[in-house]
Amino acid sequence: MKTVFQADLLIDGTGNAAIEKAAVLVENGLVIAAGRRADIGLPDGAHVVTAPAGTTLMPGLIDSHVHLAYSGIPDVKKLRAERMDSSYPAVALAAAARAQLSLTYGVTALRDMHAPGGTIIDLRDAIEAGDIVGPRLRACGRGLTVTGGHMDPSAYADHTTIDNFAHACDGADGFRRGARIEAKRGADFIKINSCVSARKVPGIWWRPEMSPEEIRTACDEAHNQGLRVASHTSGGPPLTITVANGVDCVEHAHWIDDDCIELMVKNGTYLVPTLLVNERTFEIPLSPGKSYSPWSIASRKAKWLSLEKARKAGIKVGCGTDAGFMVPHGTMHWRELALLVQGGYPPMEAIVAATAVNAEIMELNAGVLAAGRFADMLLVSGNPLDDILILGDPKRLTVFKGGIKVAEAGTLLSSYPAEMDA
Ligand SMILES: [Zn+2]
Repeated sequence: MKTVFQADLLIDGTGNAAIEKAAVLVENGLVIAAGRRADIGLPDGAHVVTAPAGTTLMPGLIDSHVHLAYSGIPDVKKLRAERMDSSYPAVALAAAARAQLSLTYGVTALRDMHAPGGTIIDLRDAIEAGDIVGPRLRACGRGLTVTGGHMDPSAYADHTTIDNFAHACDGADGFRRGARIEAKRGADFIKINSCVSARKVPGIWWRPEMSPEEIRTACDEAHNQGLRVASHTSGGPPLTITVANGVDCVEHAHWIDDDCIELMVKNGTYLVPTLLVNERTFEIPLSPGKSYSPWSIASRKAKWLSLEKARKAGIKVGCGTDAGFMVPHGTMHWRELALLVQGGYPPMEAIVAATAVNAEIMELNAGVLAAGRFADMLLVSGNPLDDILILGDPKRLTVFKGGIKVAEAGTLLSSYPAEMDA
């Protein structure tokens, strides 16, 4: 059945000017046409959904950096307990609830950046199979990390082992095998941890964790299998080495120097700056007697400068919160758009980052309301170009996935796809 969605304003996700008196024609879950209502017309027998006056139609939001396996609890000890106390099936069930919550906040797709047991691959498959309702997921399975590295947690008692938590690899052969195993498991992309934060020498806030050869080999193997590589990074020369050795998307990347900017432009490397997670450090009350670390203060400052440089150079910047790590799921995805606006992005550009660019990073046929794309859309009461903050109010949102209404005014309509109706 064809459905015509009509609204006062259309933001199509391309960055082109918004269209007034707009319509989107949808059939079999895909957009057939989007544009002026007069041009779309009313095909014979089409079901018509007319939004109330003052409503904007736009692509569903996408968050390109989340960890559905974690709740976002800020307390480190509780996070460690969360890791130890939950079986991986329990992790997957909690992740499903978090993904559904994100959907009610207008997030129709997520890129998951590492989960114990690779559980988000299973959640992705359950959603794709129609077993449960959820946003579209792209998952890396487990992140590849050197032994004892960023994702291979240390400081548990030495009789403690956490099986299958992350994917520890060492040496080029280790990373080649790691990429192969995650690909075999069903990963949509490969996540590595090439460089990390360092806190001992003020001014040198980064540290390489993988060797150039390890990075190169992981990338070569992933690319050979048609998968992209995203890397956790900190900055400085190790970030440039990361980009030079084939990584497609750099995450966090607090300190991007000019050489690296040049190389990212040349290689078409994406940046997901995860602004919110740094801001959260300063929002969460400090424990008594604690103060902010020099690293936290320096990285927060550097991030804004790096973002400005990246924007000026024309680097494609995605929009990811790091939800799951100090950021709760659902309630805060919109804040990354607000922070991009704070960092100098016009609201339209922030929306493009959270829709079209994120979809491009994830190789997802969504993010833009144009012929042939998934009809993942929001009806927003108001105009987010006038005030980006309205995207944070789920009461204003009606959420469609593949043209089917899945959430309204902050409530998921059903956990089971078969029961829903456009
Ligand atoms: Zn992360």
